[in-house]
Amino acid sequence: MSSTPLSLPAPPPRAPEFGADALIVCESLVRIYQSGPIEVQALQGLDLIVESGEMVAVVGASGSGKSTLLSILAGIDAPTAGRARVDKWDLLGMSRADRVRYRRQTVGFVRQQTASNLVPYLTARQMVDLPMTAARVPARTRRARSMELLGALGVAGFADRRPGQLSGGQQQRVAIAVSLANQPRVLLADEPTGELDTATSAEVFGALRDVNRELGVTVVVVTHDPGVSGQVERTVAIRDGRTSSEVLRRTATADDGGEHVIAEEYAVMDRAGRVQVPRDYREALNLTRRVRLALEPDHVTIRPDA
Ligand code: ADP
Ligand code: MG
Repeated sequence: MSSTPLSLPAPPPRAPEFGADALIVCESLVRIYQSGPIEVQALQGLDLIVESGEMVAVVGASGSGKSTLLSILAGIDAPTAGRARVDKWDLLGMSRADRVRYRRQTVGFVRQQTASNLVPYLTARQMVDLPMTAARVPARTRRARSMELLGALGVAGFADRRPGQLSGGQQQRVAIAVSLANQPRVLLADEPTGELDTATSAEVFGALRDVNRELGVTVVVVTHDPGVSGQVERTVAIRDGRTSSEVLRRTATADDGGEHVIAEEYAVMDRAGRVQVPRDYREALNLTRRVRLALEPDHVTIRPDA
């Protein structure tokens, strides 16, 4: 008896998940704060993808939604709608127990206010120890790892000092060490250099880059410093609760053989095809509510509605 090969129709190709291979995916993320009768839309459909091992800077004016995004990714705040996934965790549908586990194991968070990251009466060593105690790491491992981390961040010499005995830059480096205690895959830092002078900021930023490169931790850092685009491979700009543009930095070799850094700005198109046209472009051509789009062989034009 011969078996007849079954010829089933091929299943329709399924659209791959947006950012299927990425470590962090936000899609059409919305966060609405309700304060009394007033609704504030802090995030209005934000899309963001971060690959494992990347270091991404997030910039944007005050009030644009940067801290809201970071608190959502940190598992501290919950989105109103949309999709947010970090590693295997769905940040919208997570149980309370999973949220605790997620915050303890997957993400490290350095907050905006320097003081809120540290406990005034504990030494640097004790602070790095604390999250590991909560995760029931054995004492011997805790001791070794505390010193290793403080060493990696260049503050091993201050292990027995309390926050009040440390400079601002040292405090932030200790805070980074604390956030890495349980070996998270992702480090989130909200304006970690906001209260520091330029030289100290550069140092702390350098420490974040070392953490990214040497420990392989994926880093998302919010900053108001427009100069950072020259120091990270990708800078994402948020405007009105949405990702509006990205600057990609790459090294190119010129005709004379010299290497130089090129930073190129891109507008971000969302999943529905929306693109934000920068204000100066709109004003220059008086582009308002209605514009004409035309498809050319290799580009699209936008013209004012004359
Ligand atoms: P950024 O960090 O970019 O300065 P935020 O994410 O802190 O911006 O804030 C975005 C918007 O959401 C702002 O308009 C802010 O006033 C509002 N907002 C933030 N947190 C709250 C809150 N807990 N309650 C009400 N509104 C809030
Ligand atoms: Mg903020």
